[in-house]
Amino acid sequence: MTLAIALAAVLGACLGSFGNVLVHRMPRDEQVARGRSRCPSCGMQIAWFDNLPVISWLLLRGRCRGCRAPIAWRYPLVELASAALAGACVWIHGPTLPALWAFVFLYLLLIIGLIDWAHMIIPHGLTVSGIVLGLALAPWAGPGLADAILGLLVGGGVVLALSEGYRLARGQAGMGGGDVMLMAMVGTFLGPWAAAAVLAAGALLGTLFVVIARAGRVQGTAKLPFGTFLAGGAAVILAWGEPVWAWYLGLLT
Ligand SMILES: [Zn+2]
Repeated sequence: MTLAIALAAVLGACLGSFGNVLVHRMPRDEQVARGRSRCPSCGMQIAWFDNLPVISWLLLRGRCRGCRAPIAWRYPLVELASAALAGACVWIHGPTLPALWAFVFLYLLLIIGLIDWAHMIIPHGLTVSGIVLGLALAPWAGPGLADAILGLLVGGGVVLALSEGYRLARGQAGMGGGDVMLMAMVGTFLGPWAAAAVLAAGALLGTLFVVIARAGRVQGTAKLPFGTFLAGGAAVILAWGEPVWAWYLGLLT
């Protein structure tokens, strides 16, 4: 079991490294799979031994070997986060399909949340991949195939209706097509009821952020990356949705 967790964490770190490539290249419409990584400052190709997750960053003390330009903290952090998520999924579910299901979902939420935060877009390539994988794994994990399909329709449909309603009322787009696809993906993994809870959790997280940012006079909060808050809300509901729901039902009875 310890070996399985360790293997999952190493695999998770490598996928986190690939996730950094996705975060860097997808919003710029660069070929994701083609070409070795280069230093964004000096353009030097990064050798494989300088591209090991976390370890290389530590050995290079966070700087490019060629030009000594600092390498962002984000790179080792994403690799560590991905390793921790993969290890935790196998720790909780064992080396099973439900562990794979949970990791795929959390990994995509992490990458989507980062891209939306930095670029205000949610690439359809990621959400569509998530929907396909969610449906493929639904018979063995999550809400089951019927609720996954229902969740896909409800999750995407509710956000589509909200954004169309907002557009009719205000004459401008509220949420984008990326948010519609993200919630369709969330519904596929969590089912229709949890998808509704994710919308509420995402709105709550976004509101909290605005309140805290205003209090701290943080600049640049005019446009909010709603997808990042939805992704955070989805991770919260996946981890704590059932105990919170049981607690809430306990209050009513
Ligand atoms: Zn460099």
